[in-house]
Amino acid sequence: MNVLVAGGAGYIGSHAVRQLIAAGHKPVVVDNLVRGHRESVPPHIPFYCVPLSAKGELEEILRRHRVDCVMHFAALAYVGESVSEPLRYYANNTGGTIHLLEAMEAAGVKRLVFSSTCATYGEPQEMPIRETTPQRPINPYGWSKLMAEQIMKDLVAADPRWAIVSLRYFNVAGCAEDGTLGEDHDPETHLIPRLLLATLGRLPEVEIFGNDYPTADGTCIRDYIHVDDLCAAHLMAMEACHPGQFLAYNLGIGRGYSVREVVKAVRQVTGLDPPTRIGPRRPGDPAILFADSAKIQQELGWRPRFLSIEAIVDTAWRWFRAHPRGYHAA
Ligand code: UDP
Repeated sequence: MNVLVAGGAGYIGSHAVRQLIAAGHKPVVVDNLVRGHRESVPPHIPFYCVPLSAKGELEEILRRHRVDCVMHFAALAYVGESVSEPLRYYANNTGGTIHLLEAMEAAGVKRLVFSSTCATYGEPQEMPIRETTPQRPINPYGWSKLMAEQIMKDLVAADPRWAIVSLRYFNVAGCAEDGTLGEDHDPETHLIPRLLLATLGRLPEVEIFGNDYPTADGTCIRDYIHVDDLCAAHLMAMEACHPGQFLAYNLGIGRGYSVREVVKAVRQVTGLDPPTRIGPRRPGDPAILFADSAKIQQELGWRPRFLSIEAIVDTAWRWFRAHPRGYHAA
């Protein structure tokens, strides 16, 4: 299929582009390069540095490349930043999605795989989180994605030619196994990259956000899913898109690891001891989040390959060891 990958120069989008190429599809990348890296997209792939607000240009690109399906990764994704800059998040994530949907409608492209998030569930009462768990976000990031999902549901109801799958990600981690494609955020806020950067001396230390949570070791528990397992689900979702349907699937491995367990895995994989310090809780962090991903396993046959935190950290370590300064100094 001809696939427009919005946000294809970002961490997850670039891994999806690589898998699309390997599977014989033809990706076209659109990215405003605010958080993405041109270097992460192979030079032979059509690339457009265009914001989602440029509806006319997007429509033109969709037509020119006879796009069959859109994968929409283009978003801002820092919870803390969304609290301090809500307008930016709603404009970019919700508004940007509306522009993209308008361009798709104008070009007659109605198949979409959307990057959603477990942040749409907020702090749920039930664990693991199912797709039927009530969605009650607790920050603007979660709301910006939930609003986009609602718009998509309304669109499918209004016009049954639309076919949309929303994938609700848990904690995406790890990098391509060959160490040539990875994660390069500025600022880097995520736990695994921060720990690896600390082992390399690129960060003085990593603060552990709270050790007084109601968990076995007092630190937060999250469900870490390998980026390649996540991208494999996108390719399956693209095939499973059905006109007249809005489908939603959770993507996690179905078990959680505490922050301390992640630190231990980093020690084991790297043989180095990342300097850490216990700090206060980070506002908005629920104690425990992990997915029930039985629905995508049963309906689409998806199976995660990376089931241990050590295996996930190992792939991230290959990238960070080879590229301690990210893409630009590679
Ligand atoms: N975390 C931490 N120190 C850090 C970054 C993250 O203790 O420097 C914790 C955070 O509180 C959460 C887990 O690690 O419990 C994963 O956080 P991350 O920011 O990687 O992903 P999020 O869960 O926010 O999507």
